[in-house]
Amino acid sequence: MMTALLRKSLAALASLCYPQNNCCHLCSQPLRTLGEQWLCEPCQKALDEAALDPGEQPFFLHELIPCSYAGFAHEGAAKELAQALKYNGDRFCALPLAQGMATVFALDCAGSLRKSDFFLPIPLHPSRERMRGFNQAETLCQSLSYHTGLPVIPTALRRVRATRPQVGLDSAQRRNNLHGAFEVADIQAVYGKRIALVDDVCTTGSTAVACAQVLKAFGAKEVCLLTACKA
Ligand SMILES: [Zn+2]
Repeated sequence: MMTALLRKSLAALASLCYPQNNCCHLCSQPLRTLGEQWLCEPCQKALDEAALDPGEQPFFLHELIPCSYAGFAHEGAAKELAQALKYNGDRFCALPLAQGMATVFALDCAGSLRKSDFFLPIPLHPSRERMRGFNQAETLCQSLSYHTGLPVIPTALRRVRATRPQVGLDSAQRRNNLHGAFEVADIQAVYGKRIALVDDVCTTGSTAVACAQVLKAFGAKEVCLLTACKA
C-alpha cells in the first residue's frame, strides 16, 4: 500500500520535473500512443505539413554557399518549435526539427550535404550562450549527428564579437553588424574540408555567409548550409 503510494508520488514528482517525458512539446496534451515521442499526432501532422518540398532543395543563397537546405518553412508548427527551442529553452523541441533535417540529408543523394565531412553549428557569442544555457544550433547538430552518423565539430569556429540581433536590420546593416564576428578556432579541422553549417532559422542567410567567408579564407573546400527552418 505504502509502496504504491510512494510510486504514485514519485511519478507525479517526475512529471512535474520532466513534463517533456509525457506531454506534447507544442500543445502540452498528454502523449498517448506508442508512436508519439515528442509531439502528439495532430502536432506532428501539422509539423509534417510545414516540411519543404524536396524539389525546392538545395536552394541558392550566395556564391560562398551555393547549396542550402532546410527541413521546414518558417511557419506554423515548425516556427513554434524553433521559437520554443530558442526562447523557452525547451531543448526537446530540437528533436522533431532535427528529424525533418535528417530526412533532407537522406534525400540529398548526390548533393553537397551528403558529401560533407562534418556538421558545424553556427556559434553564439559565449556571453549569449551562457545566458541561454546552450546553443540551439549545437543541440540540432547533436540530434542530426545521431540520425546521419556525420560528426559534429562545434569548436572549429568561434564568435569573437557580440553582435546585436539581426532582426529589423536591412541586408547592408546585417553585413556590417557581423563584420569580424567569427574566427576559425581550429584550422586543421577546417582546411580542405567540406563543411555543413547548421542553424535554426535561415532568414537572409547573412550570418551563414559571414561564417562561410571566414571558413573559405582558412581553406575550407566547400560550405553548405542546413537549417531547421527557412523564412
Ligand atoms: Zn500537440
